[in-house]
Amino acid sequence: MDQKIEFDFSGILDCIHCGLCLPKCPSYVILGTETDSPRGRIFLMKSFSEGAVEANKVFKKHFDLCLGCRGCETACPSGVKYHRLFEEVQKVIKENIEPPLISRFLKRIILYHIFPFPGRLRFVFTILRFYQKSGLQKMVRSSGVLKIFSKKLDLSERFMPDITSSRVQKFDFKSEEKGRNSRKKVGMLRGCVMDYIAPETNRSTVRLLQKCGYDVRAPDNLHCCGAIHQHNGENKMAKMLARNTIDSFDGEGVTAILSNAAGCGAMMKEYGSLLSGDPAYSEKAVRFSAMVKDITEFLNENLSQLSFKPVNRSVVYDEPCHLIHGQGISNEPARLLSSIPGLEIFKLNESEMCCGSAGTFNIAQPELSLEVLKRKMENIKKSGADTVITANVGCMIQLKRGAQMSGCELKVEHIVDILDEAVE
Ligand code: SF4
Ligand code: SF4
Repeated sequence: MDQKIEFDFSGILDCIHCGLCLPKCPSYVILGTETDSPRGRIFLMKSFSEGAVEANKVFKKHFDLCLGCRGCETACPSGVKYHRLFEEVQKVIKENIEPPLISRFLKRIILYHIFPFPGRLRFVFTILRFYQKSGLQKMVRSSGVLKIFSKKLDLSERFMPDITSSRVQKFDFKSEEKGRNSRKKVGMLRGCVMDYIAPETNRSTVRLLQKCGYDVRAPDNLHCCGAIHQHNGENKMAKMLARNTIDSFDGEGVTAILSNAAGCGAMMKEYGSLLSGDPAYSEKAVRFSAMVKDITEFLNENLSQLSFKPVNRSVVYDEPCHLIHGQGISNEPARLLSSIPGLEIFKLNESEMCCGSAGTFNIAQPELSLEVLKRKMENIKKSGADTVITANVGCMIQLKRGAQMSGCELKVEHIVDILDEAVE
C-alpha cells in the first residue's frame, strides 16, 4: 500500500478491547454496530496501519459517523487517547480519499476563506439573518424544496441556529470594562459565532467577571481558535490560527484566558502540544495553554466574590462533551449551580452523553445527530425539569432545536446566563 503520510498508531496499543467504552458511545448506542464503536474504529485504524484494510469510502464512513465527543476516553480504563488517534485518521482519510468536488469546494471555502476572517464571517451571518427574517426560510421549509435535492440537505437546514442579534454588531466590551476593583485583567475568547447566536451569553460572562473584580480584555478582531480546522484534519491551518490567537492576547497583561465555549477551551489547552515543533512558538504556546480556563473553572475559583439571590426554577445540567470528556470539568458547574438558592437541581440520565451537536456534526450527519438528540430529549423530559442548563453554545443551539422539535416547553440556557440572572 502506498502510504504517503506517517500514521502514528502507537496509541492504539493501549486498547485492551474491554468494550467498556461501548455503552458510552452515542454512535454505537444508536447504530449498534461494532465498526461504529470506539473499539471497532480503533481496530479499523490498527488494520489500516498493518496494511490489512484500505482507507476507502467504507473505512471513511465509520469515522464520519464518529461525533468526536470523547465519551469513550472518560470511560476507558486503559487511558486510550482516542481524539489523538481520530486526528491521525483524519489525516489518513484526507491523504487517501478524494471527497466529491462540491464538498471539497464547500469545505475549502468555509475553513479557509470564511472562518479565519471575522469580517467575512460577519457577512455570512448577515445573509443568514436575512434568510431567516425575510420569510425565505419559512417558505423553503414549508415548500419542502430542499428535500427534492436531498433529504440530508433538508435536515441540515433545520439544524441552522437562530441568528438572534437584532443586527450583526460588535460588542462594546470597553464600556463594560469597569470591574469593581479592576485589580487584575483576564482575557476572554469571544468565540466565532457567539456574537451572532448568543450575544447575551458573552455579556453575562463579562458582567460576572466584573462582579468578581476583573477587568476584561476580549479582542474583537480575533480569528477562529482553530478547533474546527483541527477536528477536520486541517492541521496546518489550525496551527496558524493557534499562533494568531496567542499573538492576540500578547502584551495584554492578562492572568488568565477564559472561554465559555467548551470546544474552544479544549483546543486552546492543547496549543502547547500542537505547536511543540515550532521553535518560535513552542514555549509561548505552553505558557498560553497553562493560562486557559473554562469560565466555570474560573468562576468557581472566585465564587467567594459572588452572592446570589433565589431563582425558583427546576433545572437539569447537561454536560458538554468538550468540558467533561475534553477537559475533565464536571464538579465546577455543579458547584456553581448549587450556589444559587431556590434552584432545584434534578438528575439527568445520561447527562454525560453527547446531544448530537458535536461541532459541525449536526450539519454533516443530520440523520444520526437527530437520533442522538431524540434520546437526549427523552431523558430531559423524564427528569421533569423546566430548564436545561449547559455550558457550551453548540449544545445550547442543539437542545433548543430539540425542544422545538419535540414541542416541549423547555428553557435552554448557558450556565453563565442563569448565574448572571441570580447574581446580586
Ligand atoms: S468520540 Fe464519541 S462517537 Fe466517537 S468513538 Fe468516542 S464515544 Fe463514540
Ligand atoms: S474502553 Fe478503552 S481499552 Fe476498552 S475497548 Fe474501549 S478504547 Fe479499548
